[in-house]
Amino acid sequence: CIATGKPQYDNNGAFTGYIGACVDITEQKLLQQQKDDFIGIASHELKTPVTSIKAYTQILERMLLKKGDEKEASMIGKMDAQINRLTSLIGDLLDVTKINSGKLQFNDRNFEFNELVQEIVEDLQRTTEQHHLIENLEDIGVVFGDRERIGQVITNLITNAIKYSPNSDQVVIGTKLVENEVVLCVEDFGVGIAGDKLNRVFEQFYRVSGDMQHTFPGLGLGLYISAEIVKREHGRIWVNSEPGKGSKFCFALPMKKRSTK
Ligand code: ADP
Repeated sequence: CIATGKPQYDNNGAFTGYIGACVDITEQKLLQQQKDDFIGIASHELKTPVTSIKAYTQILERMLLKKGDEKEASMIGKMDAQINRLTSLIGDLLDVTKINSGKLQFNDRNFEFNELVQEIVEDLQRTTEQHHLIENLEDIGVVFGDRERIGQVITNLITNAIKYSPNSDQVVIGTKLVENEVVLCVEDFGVGIAGDKLNRVFEQFYRVSGDMQHTFPGLGLGLYISAEIVKREHGRIWVNSEPGKGSKFCFALPMKKRSTK
C-alpha cells in the first residue's frame, strides 16, 4: 500500500488526527511481477536455440574456410556477428529480470584491470572496421571486483561509442588512478547527447530518439545495466556530452576494496 496524507491540527495548534489515503498496489505489483517473469522465461527460452545456431555457424565457417570457400565463409562470419548481437540482447533482457528481482549475482575477486581492458579492446577491434580503438592506459594494477560484470560495462561503453559515432573513426579508451579510485573513460566523437537527456540515459528502456539521418538499433538497457553493476561495485558512472561533437562516458570504482593477497 502507498500511503499519502497530512497530520491535522486545531486552531490552537494541537494535533487532532491524521487524514490520509492508502492506495492498494498489490495488483500493480503482481502485474509487474508477471511482466518480469515473462521477460525472464522468454529470454531464457530464446537463449537455448540461439546458442545452438551459433555453434553450428561456427562449425560451418571452419568447414568452409578449410575448403577454401572464402566468400561463403565470410557470409557465415557476418551471420555469426548478428548472432552475437542477438545473444547480447537476450543477455541484457535476462540481466534486467535479475536486477528487478534482486538476483544479479556478483563474484568479486582480484584481477588486473588494464589486462581486462586490453582483452576487450582487442576483441572489439577485430570486428570493428571503421573505428580505431585507441588505448590510453595508466598503470592501474590489481582491482577487486567482478571481472566479468565490470567487463560487461566496459564492452557496453565501447560498443555504444562505436554505434553512436557513425561519421567518426576514433574511440579513445583511457584508464587512470585518481586518489582512491580507478577511473575508466570512453570518448567518442559522434552524435552526442542533448543536456536535458544526459541523466536519463541511465534509466531502464530510455533511448534518445535519433534524427532523420541516424537511426540506431537497441533496447535502451545497456546503460541501465552498466549503472546497476557500477552501483553494486560501490562506484559511480557519469557522462559528459555535446550534441554533434561527441560523448565521454566514465565510471569510477573504489580501490580501497583491493585486497593485499
Ligand atoms: P541502447 O544503445 O540499446 O539504446 P543504452 O542503454 O546503451 O541503450 O543507451 C541509452 C541511450 O543513450 C541510447 O539510446 C542513446 O540515445 C544514448 N547513448 C548511449 N551511448 C551514447 C553515445 N556514446 N553517444 C550518444 N548517445 C549515446
